[in-house]
Amino acid sequence: MSPNDSIGELLSRLSRTDILQHKELLKTLLEAGAQEKDSRINNELLRELIQDYHHNAERLRESEHLYRSVIAAMEEGIVIYNRNGKIVTYNRSAEQILGLTRDQLLGRTSTDPRWRAVHQDGSPYPVEEHPAIITLQSGEPQHGVILGVHKPDGGLAWISVNSQPVISAEDPHPTAVVATFVDVSNSLSREQELTRVSQTDHLTQIANRLKFNSAFERELRTFQRYGHVLSVLMFDIDHFKKVNDTHGHDIGDIVLVELVELVKTQIRESDLLARWGGEEFIILLPHTELSEAAFLGERIRAAIEKKRFPKVGHITCSFGLTSSVKNDTKENIIKRTDEALYKAKKEGRNRVVTS
Ligand code: GH3
Ligand code: MG
Ligand code: MG
Repeated sequence: MSPNDSIGELLSRLSRTDILQHKELLKTLLEAGAQEKDSRINNELLRELIQDYHHNAERLRESEHLYRSVIAAMEEGIVIYNRNGKIVTYNRSAEQILGLTRDQLLGRTSTDPRWRAVHQDGSPYPVEEHPAIITLQSGEPQHGVILGVHKPDGGLAWISVNSQPVISAEDPHPTAVVATFVDVSNSLSREQELTRVSQTDHLTQIANRLKFNSAFERELRTFQRYGHVLSVLMFDIDHFKKVNDTHGHDIGDIVLVELVELVKTQIRESDLLARWGGEEFIILLPHTELSEAAFLGERIRAAIEKKRFPKVGHITCSFGLTSSVKNDTKENIIKRTDEALYKAKKEGRNRVVTS
């Protein structure tokens, strides 16, 4: 910069940020010049200044128009979050893919519980693990994260999300996050059906051991990361062999199905009931302390004891229970649950034993 530079020259070097920051000053100068009241300002320079200002403002408008047009024209959904995780801009594709209206979109934050996102196996997708939130907190971009989002019309949109932080020179924390996503519902539906079949017990239609294990591993990671205690409740029908021997295998099957229906009414949506094998079941209880899980176990035990099963009448179950402790492993938790169940059998059955 030289002392001989005209104001116009100086002004023409202004960046978008400079103009925005000095908007008020420029406005005052322009108004003063336009009314030719301030004799200290050389008219020649002022004209240049006004021209340059208008030129820059025009360029700014053009560039903004260009960006808006690009965003609007994109087939990908785009949602821009501010530093508080609030949606500030989105495009038409985002509206269409998510099935949301303008008001529904602009009113939400990325932590809004109404998103009710789910993993591919149908389990809840915690809001704190949403790619936009991870990017906002860590500054790290996320790629190809697949999640299902419940639409207000009851449908489920499967989307593959990328998220990118917007970082300014002055602040190392993201000032905004741009999330882009595509609808992958069609390609996922066939794959999901195969996955569903492979993870479902064919008799009772609840999760099988495979699905339980993958959900268990994920919850255990959440426990290790955030410290939310999880509990595992395992139960086994008492003297079930006798039921089969007395009434036949088909009646035994009906007992298994009805037992599952009963237990389902006792647990939360976020709990996972699975068939561990034979007449043995397991329930994953995320975010559940031991005392709470013991209370639930006792409630389920009592409900089973009370129910009358067709032809068979009353049955009972024995329960083994444990909760996650620091540095726990999947194997250790299962071992403790198994041991507690064994103890419940040994101590006379029809009871809940905690380990
Ligand atoms: P305990 O109280 O010690 O658990 O006695 P139990 O008779 O329940 O245990 P045991 O392990 O001796 O027998 C389990 C029985 O469960 C034997 C098996 O035929 C039956 N069973 C396992 N899976 C199925 C199934 O899918 N359908 C039917 N009907 N019976 C099953
Ligand atoms: Mg049994
Ligand atoms: Mg058994």
